[in-house]
Amino acid sequence: LIQDEPLIFEQGGEGRKGYSLPRWDLEEVEAKNLIPSHLLREDLEGFPQLSEIDVVRHFTRLSQWNYGLDSGFYPLGSCTMKYNPKVNEEIARMSGFANLHPYTPEDLAQGALRLMYELGGFLAEITGMDHVSLQPAAGAHGELTGIRMVKAFLQARGNGRKKVLVPDTAHGTNCSTSTIASYQMVEIKSNENGIISPEKVAEQMDEEVAAIMVTNPNTLGLFEEHLAEIAEIVHRKGGFVYCDGANLNALMGIVKLGDLGVDVVHINLHKTFSTPHGGGGPGAGPVAVKKELAPYLPVPVIEKDRGIYRLNDDRPHSIGKMRAFYGNFGVILKAYAYILSMGSEGLKRASEMAVLNANYLMKRLKDYYHLPYDRPCMHECVFTDLFQEKYHVSTLDIAKRLIDYGYHPPTIYFPLVVKAALMIEPTETESKESLDGFIETMIAIAKEAEEDPDLLRQAP
Ligand SMILES: *Cc1c(COP(=O)(O)O)cnc(C)c1O
Repeated sequence: LIQDEPLIFEQGGEGRKGYSLPRWDLEEVEAKNLIPSHLLREDLEGFPQLSEIDVVRHFTRLSQWNYGLDSGFYPLGSCTMKYNPKVNEEIARMSGFANLHPYTPEDLAQGALRLMYELGGFLAEITGMDHVSLQPAAGAHGELTGIRMVKAFLQARGNGRKKVLVPDTAHGTNCSTSTIASYQMVEIKSNENGIISPEKVAEQMDEEVAAIMVTNPNTLGLFEEHLAEIAEIVHRKGGFVYCDGANLNALMGIVKLGDLGVDVVHINLHKTFSTPHGGGGPGAGPVAVKKELAPYLPVPVIEKDRGIYRLNDDRPHSIGKMRAFYGNFGVILKAYAYILSMGSEGLKRASEMAVLNANYLMKRLKDYYHLPYDRPCMHECVFTDLFQEKYHVSTLDIAKRLIDYGYHPPTIYFPLVVKAALMIEPTETESKESLDGFIETMIAIAKEAEEDPDLLRQAP
């Protein structure tokens, strides 16, 4: 019924208005006597005429069609659709922050500069790296920033390496990044445990390889256990280790990627650090690097000198600017507020709960859905439709049926290494009741597939 909402152009009636102004006590003048005729619109044919309540109800109804985290469970794998505390939104809207002009002189923006400087420090601590740029606007943008820095480093030594190694369990953006950075992408096949083995990397690693891009945890939700050993192999031949850290929600306070030999990593603030996402809104993909790559960071770099924060543009080796000004400040602000309110213990606990929730869900569903890699997962788990194949029910049908039950479906048909994947990421912010509700529904759907497969095929 709600979805029968007509267009606003189909509503209202002649002469209806959303305002009432006091009567004018001046002489009326025709608009054409004041405004040049070429600037005047002839008429407004079909322009809707509505009262205030018509307009409010129309847009309120439209807003209710949206399914968001505030309406229900949102287990979209690889996206970390966790609840983001509203207090961080409030802080981002404080006028001192929200109205600060990007050209405000440094002396008058010390608070904002300090906040960005300190957030860089927090992220360096969490990832185990030395320096951070907050400039990239998204995860993929952070990847490009990182790989361009690697390229600049190598080129400064007159080294024109041509290839980047990318495992088949990497995120698709890793392939795009290496291609856009003009590298030839070489795929590394994951092993029977769903991770990459050092031997496979050693086979491909040579002096032509600029870097390996490893997503950790990978897109199967599995921890790349051999990363440290792989990093050694790559370093021995003069290559760099890029880590796609968009899945950091599984690792905070537990693993420091820098300790595993990672040279450069990006982080998705809009996944792990409290910026709602999914509608294409602003995000942030800071990059963290080890010391040797620091000269190549985008400008400006925020520096602290005797208690004063300054923007330094005078960095001869910098790859330049990746984005206007300093990045998406509102997102940076929310991440800062989130980290301070969680504290280091809180962040660690969040990751522990994210991993526990995913394992709970995986264990409870694995009798009903085929689990291609039956081993402990990190923050997400991947099933397939193999058990349902004999009823001619597919992953797509299962996802559609979940909509009937009022759930946002998980990620489907990704990652590509698994045929007809169903990738579920519950996150740490869901209660046991909400997990159980989803699990019971998934079990009910598995039974329906057996007993009434048409129901699923016709859903929603
Ligand atoms: C989400 C994600 C990305 C891409 O991040 P964007 O902000 O969408 O560009 C990259 N890698 C992994 C592993 C991701 O989950």
